[in-house]
Amino acid sequence: MQVLNPRCELKHLQELFLKKWQNLWDNGNTGRSVHKVLKTVNLKPVFWTREEILFVTGHDPFPSFLNRFHFSDIDSCACGEVGDPIHYATSCPLTLSWHIRKPSTSLESLWYQRVLEN
Ligand SMILES: [Zn+2]
Repeated sequence: MQVLNPRCELKHLQELFLKKWQNLWDNGNTGRSVHKVLKTVNLKPVFWTREEILFVTGHDPFPSFLNRFHFSDIDSCACGEVGDPIHYATSCPLTLSWHIRKPSTSLESLWYQRVLEN
């Protein structure tokens, strides 16, 4: 097999790969909370802190996460609401002094980005 311009072919393959990856990312079932923040796939790494990763993914110490992966029988906070990051950040009476304003659904993506910038 003869390849006339391997550099050009590689660039074309990378574009195809990114387009397919973007399609899978846009239409997937997992990682939806991260999709709200990172809409576009990219080969460059994202340098989030551990806290930012936990907040955006909803993983680790949250009752909703522990219940989802069968580490706990309940998904609710001590106040009775679903214990996910948005609940603790915006509406839980137990974390009242750290609350930030809850986003409207249409501005949720922008809201996540602003929260991560601060
Ligand atoms: Zn609560």
